[in-house]
Amino acid sequence: MLHTNLDINEKGNLTFAGYDTVELAKEYKTPLYLLDEERIREKCRTYLGAMKKHFGEGSTALYASKALSLKEIYRIAKEEGMSVDVVSGGEIYTAKTAGFPMENVYFHGNNKTDDEIEYAIECGIGYFVADCREELIAINSFAQKKNIVQKIILRLTPGIDTHTYEAVRTGQVDSKFGTAIETGQAIEITEFALSLSNISLEGFHCHVGSQVFDGQTFCDSADIMLDYIAFVKEKLGYEAKILNLGGGYGVRYVESDPHLDIEKSIGEVSVHIKKKCSESGIDMPKILMEPGRSIVADAGLTLYSVGSVKTITGYKSYVAIDGGMTDNPRYALYKSAYSSIIANKAKEEADFCCAIAGKCCESGDLIAEDIMLQKPERGDILAVMVTGAYNYSMSSNYNRIPRPPVVMLSKEGSRVVVKRESYEDVAKNDI
Ligand SMILES: *Cc1c(COP(=O)(O)O)cnc(C)c1O
Repeated sequence: MLHTNLDINEKGNLTFAGYDTVELAKEYKTPLYLLDEERIREKCRTYLGAMKKHFGEGSTALYASKALSLKEIYRIAKEEGMSVDVVSGGEIYTAKTAGFPMENVYFHGNNKTDDEIEYAIECGIGYFVADCREELIAINSFAQKKNIVQKIILRLTPGIDTHTYEAVRTGQVDSKFGTAIETGQAIEITEFALSLSNISLEGFHCHVGSQVFDGQTFCDSADIMLDYIAFVKEKLGYEAKILNLGGGYGVRYVESDPHLDIEKSIGEVSVHIKKKCSESGIDMPKILMEPGRSIVADAGLTLYSVGSVKTITGYKSYVAIDGGMTDNPRYALYKSAYSSIIANKAKEEADFCCAIAGKCCESGDLIAEDIMLQKPERGDILAVMVTGAYNYSMSSNYNRIPRPPVVMLSKEGSRVVVKRESYEDVAKNDI
């Protein structure tokens, strides 16, 4: 199986986190998001352990909560000692109401509004990851009003082109995020940040992309960032305390994706960074990484019921499910590949080639094309694997379809952590 939390039981049903998925579909109905609590905790511990072991005290991992933002995730992150990234007022609110300590929150985003900036400062947010000049001015002025000095780190673009999808590449010079080093604009904004009295510049940030399987990407961006830190030290006499290398470690969605040993890769990156720091004559800053996808992706699985099975003579077959782009828009957005199985026929041969279609009135509403499934029939349970990241968090109510519930699975039992939306919920803000 794709991941160790997946298996097949004696009934021939798919199991996830030790639970019979067909039983869960009966109990909670479909569509249904499942989460494996132990897997999420394990991943937090892997990152926290590796960062501390290889980079020392003070270096740590932040969970990039845009991957999956709901109260229970912030509670788990808090218990595990993870810090978190947020990217909006809504994520700040969710973390705060879950009791997450605000001093361990980093606020990202390329266009934070004045309202969001004021709200974040009122909440006592730990750090802003500041993106641009206008934002620095706004943070400084709200901080002045509150009579505080707000800690920030500056987002820079190191000019790295990762080999990944266009839409999730963020490190190249031509990007809506951050300020480019190459063009000389980074040093200008650094100098400006240092001149503001109610801002304390703690260091620099970069994030070069997603689905990265090779630690070399982090080494390359660290090289550029550490060169920049050395340059700033020489030019402005300022020594950065923090270097945040962003997130992006990859996840196995399909059998052909590589296996990744996160602990080992972080170890290799640390050897490279330590060497680079001593060559550049700078003290190693605290190193931060901010994984999102790799914390939660394989801790998620979505269950659907099969509806119609339509074979267009001479063309192909469509298997329609009771969800689709409203709960998983990633195929429609990026043609992201997923692995699927008919959960109640998990032992049978997958010899039926088809596209998996959602129920939206939209031709692009697909979850997969050219995928092999066990022979599907109306009423079967379809499981789509590795859906913990960017599924629930990217979901919508298109066609006024209510969002599925999120059920957390642990050794103690299963529990609803987000309720299924009702029709009333869908229309609740309509006047
Ligand atoms: C999205 C994002 C992350 C997390 O990326 P993953 O690929 O989910 O690990 C981290 N940092 C920033 C700034 C991001 O935008």
